[in-house]
Amino acid sequence: MKKYWSRKASSLSPYTAGEQPKIKNLIKLNTNENAYPPSPNVFSAIEAAGAHLRKYPLLAMDALAEAAARAGGLAPENIFCSNGSDEALALCFLAFFDPGKPVLTMDVTYSFYPVWAKLFDITMQILPLNDDFTVPLQEMTGARGGVVLANPNAPTGIALSAGEVEKIVRQNDCVVIVDEAYFGFGAQSVLSLVKKYNNLAVVRTLSKSHSLAGLRVGYVAANPNLISALLAVRDSFNSYPVGTLAQAGGAAALADEAYYKANNEKIIKTREYTADALKAMGAEVLPSAANFIFARPPVPAEKVFKKLREKGIVVRWFNKERISGYLRVSIGTMEEMECFIGEMKRILNG
Ligand SMILES: *Cc1c(COP(=O)(O)O)cnc(C)c1O
Repeated sequence: MKKYWSRKASSLSPYTAGEQPKIKNLIKLNTNENAYPPSPNVFSAIEAAGAHLRKYPLLAMDALAEAAARAGGLAPENIFCSNGSDEALALCFLAFFDPGKPVLTMDVTYSFYPVWAKLFDITMQILPLNDDFTVPLQEMTGARGGVVLANPNAPTGIALSAGEVEKIVRQNDCVVIVDEAYFGFGAQSVLSLVKKYNNLAVVRTLSKSHSLAGLRVGYVAANPNLISALLAVRDSFNSYPVGTLAQAGGAAALADEAYYKANNEKIIKTREYTADALKAMGAEVLPSAANFIFARPPVPAEKVFKKLREKGIVVRWFNKERISGYLRVSIGTMEEMECFIGEMKRILNG
């Protein structure tokens, strides 16, 4: 089977992304895409940028970097742009972590972290979350090789305060990656703290809060020294990771904060409404600061997952220790969530 494969390729255990079904008319609540379309300005910016497609993209990505920097009161020198934040995270692992120096992370968190660690021969020190899936803060100290932390965490949705994250940055003499994939849905951010700490790298994506999962735009905010390490790694692999259209669309999205703020406030309201409805059905729902909820139904989650799928509602179920009793449900529009809630009631009563 693996004839002609490199030893590296043979050794990998790749990440499994959520299903992208081809069938239409499904209610898709499985990959945390934003419930609402991108700002109309994104489309006009992409159309205008089309005139430049003959040429390579701008290397400095000034407009995108400036728009990203503005949110944290940062400068473009603090920003590294990437083809989605998964790429940013992978390049951070290469730029900041070394084999033989374990990187601290959690047992229940984004399951891509151990995949990159394996790809780059980095070992991980895995800290179990508390029984309530909160981070054991007193143990988040003295990491040797680095720290990688999703805030809010995925798939739990639970967020640490900015003060708590800052303490983790202060207590570790190595790079702390804070993955803010779900910024904009109510959690506090540490973006502006990159001015204060030379070991903090904040990673963000426009896939969730800015409705651009299909465009692939992510970025790292950090001090210029860490940004230089990322550029060295990038330019040893692919110098043009963000295309001309993605740069233009991403910058236009970041410039239209009012549009996204209004959408994301609706999502937060829908999230709380859905959480209350699930609790009323006897489900346990973890407190979420993201555009999804993590809930334990009063019957086996796998069964509920399959029954929802039969009815055309796709959610995510992880067949993994500690969390196999839970479902992760992305927050769609209010209409979609009413369908989901209605189906859940039928499943739990029948
Ligand atoms: C969605 C997600 C990402 C990656 O998003 P991209 O679409 O690659 O930008 C990274 N981290 C977490 C925790 C996520 O949920």
